[in-house]
Amino acid sequence: MCDKDQFNTEIEHEDHGFEYIVSSCLCGEKCRYDGKVFVLEKVKNLVDSGKAIMICPEVSGGMAVPRLPCEIKDGRVFSITLDDKTDCYFNGAIKALDIAKKYGITKAILKEKSPSCGSSYIYDGTFSRTLISGEGITTKLFRENGIKVISDEEF
Ligand code: SF4
Repeated sequence: MCDKDQFNTEIEHEDHGFEYIVSSCLCGEKCRYDGKVFVLEKVKNLVDSGKAIMICPEVSGGMAVPRLPCEIKDGRVFSITLDDKTDCYFNGAIKALDIAKKYGITKAILKEKSPSCGSSYIYDGTFSRTLISGEGITTKLFRENGIKVISDEEF
């Protein structure tokens, strides 16, 4: 079950110059699981200059801030207390994809290691801080739909 039932992702820009869709938590938005705020200036600059639009699939999917850490195990997403949050993660990924499609965006810069946004590495599902090669739920859906995803570490 998700933390919240609904999150409004409707955005009202008809005339846009968005080239990228980016993780909100790279731009100072308070959406990380631990409630901390972080800014990667070069990504935030894309947003500030109108070249990028932000998404947070986990908040869009109904997760609260802060929230328990979640990791992917065997294709499903579990919180550290072993609640199955898979539906929230897929709902958020679909909403993020809808936004990318709405604006015709084909490039994404997403936060590495996240169970939603990771693009090369994710945690292994044991909550032991062990990284493995893999991708998050949103990244996978983006790639399946022709969106090129790179990480904040590559950008
Ligand atoms: Fe949201 Fe993705 Fe950042 Fe996680 S990594 S807080 S899902 S934008």
